Amino acid sequence: MGKKGTEIIGMDVSKLVGELNRALADEWLAYYQYWLGAKVIQGPLREEAMDELIEHAEDELRHAGLIADRILQLGGTPVLKPEEWYKVTNCGYDAPTDTYVRKILEQNIAGERCAIGVYQKLTALVKDADPITYHMLLTVLADEVEHEDDLESVLEDLELMLKKA
Ligand code: MG
Ligand code: FE
Ligand code: FE
Repeated sequence: MGKKGTEIIGMDVSKLVGELNRALADEWLAYYQYWLGAKVIQGPLREEAMDELIEHAEDELRHAGLIADRILQLGGTPVLKPEEWYKVTNCGYDAPTDTYVRKILEQNIAGERCAIGVYQKLTALVKDADPITYHMLLTVLADEVEHEDDLESVLEDLELMLKKA
């Protein structure tokens, strides 16, 4: 990264890169969890749920791109091997072994809650030290909040529909 651009970072840059790489691993795992979930999901409101899963998968991939770009700007190296995702992830990966729509929604809601917690901590960490990363992470956090809400809405619709049936 540019000399002055690096100088304005008010914290240990390698620590920051480490945290961003953990988030990068989370985003890739979330991407695949959504992408695969959209393929295998079964049950009532499948179409409605699938649309959200596909949209969220695209968002998680975009988040991975934003985070990787910032890591590179900071002079760091984005996690190079998928096998490292499991080693550094905060939120892990929950395989959609049960393909029923409620189960898939619940798994991804849990993932979003984890992500919201991670980005809440990360934004607090960089707030005063790195305004550029802070700004980027805030947009990601806003997306994760929207994701949780969207999935909760589909789950609510599902419960209401099953109650009436
Ligand atoms: Mg959505
Ligand atoms: Fe994300
Ligand atoms: Fe998300």
